[in-house]
Amino acid sequence: MRNQQTKQWVVDNDVDSVLTSTEILEAAQQIIHNHVVAFPTETVYGLGGNAKSDEAITRIFAAKGRPSDNPLIVHIATKDQVEKYVEQIPAKARQLMDAFWPGPLTIVFRHNHTLSTKVTAGLPTVAIRMPDHPVALALIHAADLPIAAPSANRSGRPSPTTAAHVNDDLNGRIAGILDGGPTGVGVESTVVDCSSEDVMILRPGGATKEAIERVIGEITVDPALTQLDEAPRSPGMKYTHYAPTAPLTLVDGDFRYFCEKINDARAEGKKVGALITDEYRGETNATKEVLLGSVNNLSTVAKQLYPSLRSFAEDEVDVIFAQVFPETELGSAIMNRLRKAAGGTVVRQR
Ligand code: AMP
Ligand code: MG
Repeated sequence: MRNQQTKQWVVDNDVDSVLTSTEILEAAQQIIHNHVVAFPTETVYGLGGNAKSDEAITRIFAAKGRPSDNPLIVHIATKDQVEKYVEQIPAKARQLMDAFWPGPLTIVFRHNHTLSTKVTAGLPTVAIRMPDHPVALALIHAADLPIAAPSANRSGRPSPTTAAHVNDDLNGRIAGILDGGPTGVGVESTVVDCSSEDVMILRPGGATKEAIERVIGEITVDPALTQLDEAPRSPGMKYTHYAPTAPLTLVDGDFRYFCEKINDARAEGKKVGALITDEYRGETNATKEVLLGSVNNLSTVAKQLYPSLRSFAEDEVDVIFAQVFPETELGSAIMNRLRKAAGGTVVRQR
């Protein structure tokens, strides 16, 4: 259902002008009136709505086609706003806020029942973060409200890293889009549960486990992220995500094995897409190669990942094969998203 006029506001990311930007003030008015608008953050574009309003949150879920048992992250503009919405701030959460905010780390707290129950999907906990983007911060300031925001894509599609991606998915379904140019990190925030003693990573993301451990010591990772028979503790992690237009298979093996997979599919008469790093460029028999940057630069790979998944047009390829990455630092988030995009389909060299 694409039945509303979606306003397009182009904003300059200049920190000074953003505070007086009429585009941001207009977008904030929409938020205040419980309409939903997309805005840039340093990770991906978010689809924002008033986190205190059931009406606004219902609009977010409807625009995305998102299952309502998947809670949203609440975005705030200053660290001291957290205490308005949580029971208490545990010591380790405080250390993480001080080390990572503003930035790509979302912290799960026990909430104090001041936000819409639709934001938290009825859970006793709420996920909160302070984004590191001048437009996002100015929008939250201008609305003077906590802003709940999932990624601004239709549910199941790759997350948007440009306003054009948001437009492709949500034009006619939301009140407006604040275009602040391409986002920086390219993958979503890391979600860390600090609501109990056992601090745990529920979703790998822009803040790495290694960096978090340098601040609060060793932490666990939700076993469901690596074991298929465990139910994930973060409700959103159980859904298929980020799917490109053709089925994706991860190829865990050396370059020869990767080429073999492509050649086998070509021999069956298939048009083959390859999602590869620059090191493999021009060396495969794929019908279309999409490059993720160098394997030695995981921040570029993270930035390129979602635009690359979106870049295979409908009918252009029948299957896509993707390279795998070492699961350290940003590689954990990259592999988590690739596995989801592949719906778990991995072929391994013996
Ligand atoms: P998205 O909004 O698409 O970036 O997804 C937000 C992620 O945070 C999803 O994986 C949610 O399941 C997770 N999340 C949000 N709130 C909570 C919470 N209270 N407890 C655990 N995970 C949460
Ligand atoms: Mg999302």
